[in-house]
Amino acid sequence: MINLDFSLGISLYAIFFLNILLILWLFGMREKDRDLYLDPKFTWFCSVCTYTYINTRENPISKCPRCGSYNKK
Ligand SMILES: [Zn+2]
Repeated sequence: MINLDFSLGISLYAIFFLNILLILWLFGMREKDRDLYLDPKFTWFCSVCTYTYINTRENPISKCPRCGSYNKK
């Protein structure tokens, strides 16, 4: 009975540890995705209001979400 409880405890500990690894891995994947979205290619700097924003569409001209003026790369 004591051995069974010990095995159960080890199993639960292993599952808990694996879950933490999985969460850390998923978090790492999300961080990578965020880095991809923060690519300098998609980062725009408004020349009118100096607002920095992100536009993932590969247009040569993008509209500033703050002042509505058009910016060119
Ligand atoms: Zn602006």
